[in-house]
Amino acid sequence: MSPSGLSPCAACKLLRRRCAQDCIFAPYFPPDEPQKFAFVHKVFGASNVSKMLQDLPLHQRGDAVGSMVYEANARVRDPVYGCVGAISALHQQIAQLQTQLAISQAENVCLRMQHSAMVTNIVGQNHSVSSATTAATTITSESIKISPASSPPAAPSSPDRESHHFRGIEALEATGPLWTTC
Ligand SMILES: [Zn+2]
Repeated sequence: MSPSGLSPCAACKLLRRRCAQDCIFAPYFPPDEPQKFAFVHKVFGASNVSKMLQDLPLHQRGDAVGSMVYEANARVRDPVYGCVGAISALHQQIAQLQTQLAISQAENVCLRMQHSAMVTNIVGQNHSVSSATTAATTITSESIKISPASSPPAAPSSPDRESHHFRGIEALEATGPLWTTC
């Protein structure tokens, strides 16, 4: 019987043997968790588990049993790879998430650069046309973002306006590498 005197531990019950007062399994395989020992016995063998526990100091046996139970459960679920399969799947997941993170960080940098370039161009445009009429500010934020080198949305009607527009295009072309990287 188990040290409690009520019933044999899960190990002794499965092995159909008497559970001695100093049973090495009893503290780690209580009778109310029979599956725990069943898997460990199936994967490692009761004799090997007993030997491994005897070789360990008392304070490390609980951790060793926990590790064996985890490994045994993994081996039952995945007979080929066991817990290595779970580790491999988690490594793969980490690699995928790191790739995703790197892409998101690159997009973030790209958007910040686009934003600062847009702000610089808009400020530059406002400064260059400050003496002209408001109709001369033909470059909208949308045209800057989508196609910086596209033709003007409205044909300039005077040489003065045209020169303002080309000044804007030159400023945009100066930021060319920003667009190609995004
Ligand atoms: Zn026992």
